[in-house]
Amino acid sequence: MTSMNKVFADLPVTIFEAMSQLARDNNAINLGQGFPDDPGPEDIRRAAADASINGYNQYPSMMGIPELRQAIAAHYGRWHGLKLDPMTEVMVTSGGTEALTSAILAVVEPGDEVVAFQPVYDSYLPIIRQAGGIPRLLRLEPPDWRLTEEMLASVFNHKTKAVLFNNPLNPAAVVYPRQDLELLARFCQQFDTIAICDEVWEHVIFDGREHIPLITIPGMRDRTIKVGSAGKIFSLTGWKIGFVCAAPPLLRVAAKVHQFLTFTTAPNLQAAVAYGLNKPADYFYDMRKDLARSRDRLTKGLESIGFPVLKSQGTYFLTVDLSPLGLNETDEAFCRRIVTDYKVAAIPVSAFYEQDAVTSVVRFCFAKQDATLDTALERLADAVHRRKR
Ligand code: PMP
Repeated sequence: MTSMNKVFADLPVTIFEAMSQLARDNNAINLGQGFPDDPGPEDIRRAAADASINGYNQYPSMMGIPELRQAIAAHYGRWHGLKLDPMTEVMVTSGGTEALTSAILAVVEPGDEVVAFQPVYDSYLPIIRQAGGIPRLLRLEPPDWRLTEEMLASVFNHKTKAVLFNNPLNPAAVVYPRQDLELLARFCQQFDTIAICDEVWEHVIFDGREHIPLITIPGMRDRTIKVGSAGKIFSLTGWKIGFVCAAPPLLRVAAKVHQFLTFTTAPNLQAAVAYGLNKPADYFYDMRKDLARSRDRLTKGLESIGFPVLKSQGTYFLTVDLSPLGLNETDEAFCRRIVTDYKVAAIPVSAFYEQDAVTSVVRFCFAKQDATLDTALERLADAVHRRKR
């Protein structure tokens, strides 16, 4: 057999696929996968339907339809005071995943070192490697998952071409404070490093927290590639409309990659996302309030049956730290046990580590209807105690 590209051929089946399969096989409630089980905002879906029937359905402009690029620039202007030129600093992609791939392939050349933080989103490392980059992995740790000067100093050097940073962080549900962003910014400037900042969860934040885009930190405007996703902003994860925002010299090259990855993205969905991004601030605050309510429901329920829940500051996820429970099993063994014995699927956070994994933390998705969360909690009622006996 002809040998295939090892970067991809050697990738294992991900735990996400494995757990979803186990969830199906066991007829389990799937709190593993990260998507809401309601249909999403009706007015935005109608805007997409309307654009399909009455709008333009041929190839739109490669960079995205002008009304969406303008809406993205205006949105970030209103929310973060960021001034973006919609024509030279904004590009629409097919999801955050394509935005990230375009950014990484635009920046990384063979031999470049690329810093990434574990828990790491699963698409980063294969694309870094495909570009010939050398990942330099750092390990974030519960319960705070914060950046430290010591950790950055241990990997940044003059070969550090790029850093991949995810904020808010999936799966740890952290919204990083300014202090950590300034620390990372200092290292990027000292070593002339480009930051690719995955901010797809930027609007899914709770308790009055503020999302601070890395690109707004002094010194980062011209060295940050900001990645966003309408799928997360509007809880329409299947739409796969992403954005790249960056200074023209960076965006120009990312656009060359995008040109040959997908070239363009469904125009009806782009029109609907433009409509959505122009919604008043209250829409976004209400969405956060609704999700925070679901977070609190699952948190309280899990705590009442004995699970130590770590604080979720953002994303659709909360995490549970198994270590104080004395269960004497890894996060993966725990997830395999609860999906078969209790018919609830979750994701072991060790799946987000390639080396030195944290093996005691499990991720649950709370972006589900109350009845779904309540049934999952009923099923898990003696999951902590049964094992101890
Ligand atoms: N980055 C992170 C951290 C994510 O959680 C996700 C979605 N799970 C993505 C990127 C991909 O976003 P999209 O679905 O828009 O491709």
